[in-house]
Amino acid sequence: MLRGTVLTHRRRCGKPNCRCAIGGELHSSVVLSYSVHNKTKFVMLRADEAPQVRAATRRFRAAKAKLEAAADKGLEQLIASRAPRG
Ligand SMILES: [Zn+2]
Repeated sequence: MLRGTVLTHRRRCGKPNCRCAIGGELHSSVVLSYSVHNKTKFVMLRADEAPQVRAATRRFRAAKAKLEAAADKGLEQLIASRAPRG
């Protein structure tokens, strides 16, 4: 599994005569976006690795959701054990 989100960046390259500067299609690159100490960073992905990386980020999100749900349940149970009965 892998932390982060796969995104497609679309941008202009800055060359004045490029198609992207004259209304044509922008340049796109697929990246893995992740954050370290609240700073967003990117890793460029090759087209052939993007699907596996995307799948790995999904596995992480699914596992994280499961862990969060289990932790919420544990908290609920502790709180319920303190509630007055009757
Ligand atoms: Zn360009």
